[in-house]
Order: sequence, then C-alpha cells, then structure tokens
Amino acid sequence: MSDYLMQTYARQPVAFERGEGAWLFDTNGEMYLDALAGVAVNGLGHGHPTLARALCDQAAKLIHTSNLYRIPLQEELAARLCQLSGLSRAFFCNSGAEANEAAIKIARLHGHNNGVDSPAIVVMEKSFHGRTMATLSATGNRKVQAGFEPLVSGFVRVPFGDSAAVEALAAHHKNIVAVLVEPYQGEGGVQIPQANYLAELRRICDEQSWLLMLDEVQTGIARTGTWFAFQHTDVMPDVMTLAKGLGSGVPIGACLARGVAAETFTPGKHGSTFGGGPLACTAALTTLSVMESEGLLDHAAKLGQFIRDDLAMRLQGQSGVVEIRGQGLMIGIQLDRACGDLVKMALEEKLLINVTNDSVVRLLPPLVMTQADAELLTEKLARLIRIFLG
Ligand SMILES: *Cc1c(COP(=O)(O)O)cnc(C)c1O
Repeated sequence: MSDYLMQTYARQPVAFERGEGAWLFDTNGEMYLDALAGVAVNGLGHGHPTLARALCDQAAKLIHTSNLYRIPLQEELAARLCQLSGLSRAFFCNSGAEANEAAIKIARLHGHNNGVDSPAIVVMEKSFHGRTMATLSATGNRKVQAGFEPLVSGFVRVPFGDSAAVEALAAHHKNIVAVLVEPYQGEGGVQIPQANYLAELRRICDEQSWLLMLDEVQTGIARTGTWFAFQHTDVMPDVMTLAKGLGSGVPIGACLARGVAAETFTPGKHGSTFGGGPLACTAALTTLSVMESEGLLDHAAKLGQFIRDDLAMRLQGQSGVVEIRGQGLMIGIQLDRACGDLVKMALEEKLLINVTNDSVVRLLPPLVMTQADAELLTEKLARLIRIFLG
C-alpha cells in the first residue's frame, strides 16, 4: 500500500493490468470474474474494441477545448440523451456528485425564482448522492457525514419508499421545492420500493409544484434493463442525474431537465471546466451506440433475471439468506448478518463482488457479461455464501 496516497480507501490487495469483457487480469496474470464493473461504471466491460478505437481516434483529434466555445460532440450527446429520456436539456460535468450538485442548484434557484427564500429539498434515509458538501448533506448515511459538520442546510429527510411521509411534509414545510430520490437505492443496499412509489411522488410533486429529481447515477444507462430506471414506470421526472455508466470509465456526469427546470440555469449560474469535453462525450456516445447495437438493454434484463432466479435456486433452504432482489443487472442478496468478509473470500476465489449496507451482497456485472460467465458467477457465489453462513 502506498505511503503517498491519502488513506481514503480500504483497498483489496490486488491491481489489474488489463481486461476483456467481464474478465480482469492482475499483475501476476491471474484471471478474475468481474461482477462489480467498477461499481456500475464499466457497462461495456473491459477492453471493448469499439470504445478503445473511438477514444484513440478522438484523442488524436481533440481532447479538450472549453465551454467558451461550441462543442459539437456535447450537443450531439445532449440530443441523444434527451431523445432516450424524454427530457429536454442537459448540463455536463464529471461525476455523480457534480451531477447532483447541479440538480440541487437548479432546485434552489427555481425556489428563489418563485419567492422561496430558504428552499428545502426532500431526501431519503439510506440514500447516497455523493461526497461533496452538498451531496453528503443530502446523503442519508451518518458515516458519510460524520466529522464534516456543519452540513449544508436545506434538506428534509423521510424514510425511503414511504410516499405518505413525503405527503405529510407538505402541510408543515412551506419552503420545500423538490424531492431528490434514487429510483432504486444502490449504496443503501439495493432497495426496491413498491411499484407505485415514483407515481405517488410524481402526484405529490404535481400537487405541490415541487420538482421530482431522480438520481439515476447508478441505475441509469441500461443498468436495470431500460435506459433509465424510471422507464419501468409511467413517471417522467423533472430532473435526472447520470454518471457512472455513462462514459464506460471515462469520467462524465450529466444533469438533464425538462420544463421550467430546464430553463432555470442562465449564463453565469453554473459551469465546469472539463464538463462535456470532446473525449468524454465520445466515450458516452460510443457507450450508448454500442449498448443499442449489441442489444444490451434486453440482455441486462434477461441476464439479471437469470442470476436472481439461479441464485434463489442454489440458495434455497439456506438459513441466513433473507432476500434476493434487484432489477436487471443491479442485484442485492440480503443476508441476516454483516458479511463484509465475503468480499475477501470471493477475491481469493477470483471473483469480484461488493458488500453494501453491511449485510447486502451487491452485484453490478458489466452488461456484456455472457450467460456462461453468469453461470460461473452464480455457482461460485452461492457456494461462497453457503460456506460463509455455515
Ligand atoms: C455513485 C453515486 C453517486 C456519486 O457519484 P460520484 O461519481 O462518485 O461522485 C451519486 N449518486 C448515486 C446514486 C451513486 O450511486
């Protein structure tokens, strides 16, 4: 471990040199099955030739100009994301936290434009929105916030999945301007709300003239089998944030909006030096076109269903397994106890998985994972979970 790095991560003692599809090769040439995809980032897997070629070609032409000038690739990407989502304008940045910062600023500015001096945003327990001061304040996890007080004010918290709790706020909080929510919570343990949750939030937001802002940083870009998780419902958000899977590993984030929310930012209100540069936009445009041409949305939906069903079968009757849940290739296996040790056990078996919210094994495989790889994953993982639970 390096003495020259700030100690922000508890890293696994392995380093990877190259990859192919859902496989990674470490510096000793050992092969690992990747069921995490850089935490929902590498949708196209590793070493995708179309992406590599597009990035090389673009790097040779232009990497960066500036948002002081028009950037045709940024305009093209904005149009493509609006066409896929039904939203009408995009702002580009470099990460999920920054995308959420943009959403939070839109909500506050929208509030001030409507005479709300101290606008508040409804956020959820167990949510995760990032590590900047505003987004960690919005995050519903004390571990993320502890030591960084004073937090940014202007957030009101309710339990995730409880639309009645959101509705109850309306009577007492006259300064609420928006609801910020993950359609399915990721870091919070792959939490899937009731099917009508987003529709209920939409109804409340319409009645109260609040903006419905969806954090799709983890759920977006085909992860759950549709381009965006809200597309499993009839609901349209006013604002949506993206990052993780958007650039297949090249940093890019986006905040999309429609209606009044799309017109809130005016020149000078927000910006980013790197945001929406030619290289990052090429990564995103190529990611979207490969996902479409390789049929990865459908594949993610089907492969995810297979993994959940197969794990349920293999773990049948095993005490300690509480629930197997998810949508597409966002999968959580809820155990009845803390299971962080499973990450190390899996690594020794050359399998990359994650544990979140203490007791949830989380799988976020690359969308290009094959059926054969998925069978290997379920076989290995079910065996490890059985050994762990004893
Ligand atoms: C990862 C994540 C973020 C933060 O993204 P960064 O790129 O790490 O800033 C925000 N929201 C959700 C839902 C996430 O999963």
